[in-house]
Amino acid sequence: MKKALAALFLFAVVGSALLLVLSRERTASAGPAEPAAAAPDDTAGLHEAMWYEKLAGGLVHCQLCPNHCRLPKGQIGLCRVRKNVGGTLYSLSYGQIAAVHVDPIEKKPFFHVLPGREAFSLATPGCNLRCLFCQNWEISQAYPWEVRTAPMTPEEVVAAALRSGAPAIAFTYSEPTIFYEYMLDIAKLAKEKGLKTLVVSAGYIEPEPLKALLPFIDAYKVDFKAFDSQFYADLTGGSRDPVLRTMKIVHESGVWLEVVNLLVTGKNDGAEEVRALARWVKENLGADVPLHFSRFHPMHKLMNLPPTPVERVVRAREIALAEGLRYVYTGNVPAAEGDSTYSPKTGQIVIERKGYFVVRNELQDGVAPDRTAIPGIWK
Ligand code: SF4
Repeated sequence: MKKALAALFLFAVVGSALLLVLSRERTASAGPAEPAAAAPDDTAGLHEAMWYEKLAGGLVHCQLCPNHCRLPKGQIGLCRVRKNVGGTLYSLSYGQIAAVHVDPIEKKPFFHVLPGREAFSLATPGCNLRCLFCQNWEISQAYPWEVRTAPMTPEEVVAAALRSGAPAIAFTYSEPTIFYEYMLDIAKLAKEKGLKTLVVSAGYIEPEPLKALLPFIDAYKVDFKAFDSQFYADLTGGSRDPVLRTMKIVHESGVWLEVVNLLVTGKNDGAEEVRALARWVKENLGADVPLHFSRFHPMHKLMNLPPTPVERVVRAREIALAEGLRYVYTGNVPAAEGDSTYSPKTGQIVIERKGYFVVRNELQDGVAPDRTAIPGIWK
């Protein structure tokens, strides 16, 4: 059955506005990527990929993410955007923007990064996971030729971000790991121009490319799926331990880290699993790393499940606080205590939020009125 979807992405630029309309006609598939006959073999305009090795017989071995695709000539990786053309691995998505918008930074969510400011946010098609609950499956589970994209060089992206007035660029919506080369080139330019750089990722990346990227990144959000390894295998197509490793590497690098855990109804919202995650975060990342519990809404291939009961999300926050984490938030829960940031010394609100919007910020350069320094990026 053909299905047509359209999404509008609008961002303001000084003196003009750019409207990207993305459309596609396809049925989403959560299965492994198939070799794609429709992909171009012409390498004109394609960007050679990083992090791969050439093997005998024209085979290439991609070492960017834990999927470790070994691709014969003509084949595309599981992420749908990296192809072996004539024994060389190319990125099919470099410079191909599928979504762009200026969003509140809180929407990523980052709650300890430039509160109340915005991020110039962009994505290309593709993803190296197959989450059955993906919220952006229209672009994340698409080959580049299945969605409408707009070409933008890294220079054009940074110029547009500067014109928008946003102090940061966010690589988000789909999975930035799979447009690594594009992200890296944009991030290097952005840093030269004084912009902050934010990565919103599932953290499914190999250590070496991650370490090479981090010097150009200010903040990294890891969308951690579940503490149960079987959940990763059954619902995401990936595995848990590489993501735990990513969080440790990011934290040890000094790049600001926030962790999000989407609680999917009846799948990963049990008290013991939440407690295990909170303990792991405290022991391995420390009590100051923000942990967000987000409420699931029926999406993509899990339309049959009800939304996560609000009390489960609230309970998850209470468990994590009881385990000693200092900054625990809830997402997609209306008018929640977990929207705001509290001083761990006095319990007073220091940043009050309604959903993604900051309504009061008591911090002065990251210091609360009670003189508690709240960790994060504040200016
Ligand atoms: S980045 Fe893509 S091609 Fe490379 S290993 Fe991961 S899924 Fe495979």
